[in-house]
Amino acid sequence: MLFGTNLDRTQRFNRRVVLETIRLNGPLSRAEVARLTGLSAQTVTNIIDQFKPDGLLIEKARKTGGRGQPPIDLVINPSGAFSFGISFDHRRLVVVLLNLGGEVQAEIELPVTHPTPAVVLPLIEAAVNELINKAKVPRERIWGAGVVMPVLVSEGNPTVLGPSSVPDWLDFPVVENLKQRLNMPIFLDNDATAGALGELLFGAGRQFSDFFYIYLGVGLGGGIIISSHPYRGAFGMSGELGHIISVPNGRLCSCGNRGCLERYVSLSAAFADLTGEPESLKSIDLDRLYKAFEDEEPKLVAWLDEAADHLRNALVTIENLFDPQVVILGGPVPDSILDGLIARIKPSLISVSSQHNNASGRLLKSESGLDTRVLGAASLAIFDSMTPDFSVLKKERAEGG
Ligand SMILES: [Zn+2]
Repeated sequence: MLFGTNLDRTQRFNRRVVLETIRLNGPLSRAEVARLTGLSAQTVTNIIDQFKPDGLLIEKARKTGGRGQPPIDLVINPSGAFSFGISFDHRRLVVVLLNLGGEVQAEIELPVTHPTPAVVLPLIEAAVNELINKAKVPRERIWGAGVVMPVLVSEGNPTVLGPSSVPDWLDFPVVENLKQRLNMPIFLDNDATAGALGELLFGAGRQFSDFFYIYLGVGLGGGIIISSHPYRGAFGMSGELGHIISVPNGRLCSCGNRGCLERYVSLSAAFADLTGEPESLKSIDLDRLYKAFEDEEPKLVAWLDEAADHLRNALVTIENLFDPQVVILGGPVPDSILDGLIARIKPSLISVSSQHNNASGRLLKSESGLDTRVLGAASLAIFDSMTPDFSVLKKERAEGG
């Protein structure tokens, strides 16, 4: 494996620190960047000059009332870089092109009839190429593509804890295959971690560095952000909130245990309560479910009440374990479901978080809406290119550099 010199690595780290500081706090003058980053004025100027050919930054004179030379402000150029978000399950494929400002430039949505690699991979390839042509994006400004599907990702490959709705993808080398087809960096992650990164970069998590993201979808998952970085666990499978046990000897779960939280808090559980049928991954009719929520069918109101009771307890567990600044509830579900749950959960029970005078509240709603999966996927490449990676410096220390 190739590594740069220690000096290279430090420069790369400093470049990211400068870029991320401007993204979060801009517009900023060079002097302000230097003050916020602790870097010398000369270092900041050198780094900003290096960014110029890439078109990542825009410079403009600050409007001041006074005389003399106004300071030059720096802001991130939203069109300075782009990334693709790719999300699919056994029903549909969504591909979006996102710019550095988090704005969707173009989007393609297709039904998926056979969710196998042989069918879906060519669809992805065609969609990405169509979007590049449609949006007229220069190839060199594309930072990569993030892929999200309903699986966990362990050591770079798809895996699951129980039966899967996309069984043909388990252990399939998705990243290598798409890298060859699309000729760009590919990032694969689970929907909850990608959703958490989407919130961190562009959503409700933008102002926080430490939070837990609860992902409510057909299943239930969690994304952990610590010091502005995802915590994936030793094997990439952290945050499996859906399989913490909420009811001793409760409902049988596909993972083999009984009483898992997901058997009470998930669209799958809601649909089972609505129909009286046992849970099944493939038979959930989301349109019917959402219509029933809209009509406030008593069975679903009862489900919301029960799910909120379970989530209220889970919140105490999450807060006591992680001591986060905030917990964010999101997922590819209509706002009314998230609002209904949050309203019922409050007031939260006592936990370490009760100690803080948290003006924003302990439980927030996600800002990325129904597209949370694909926006999270698109955030993966941007996060990888922009965010300072502290492990780079740690490696240097370990090498005695
Ligand atoms: Zn389980």
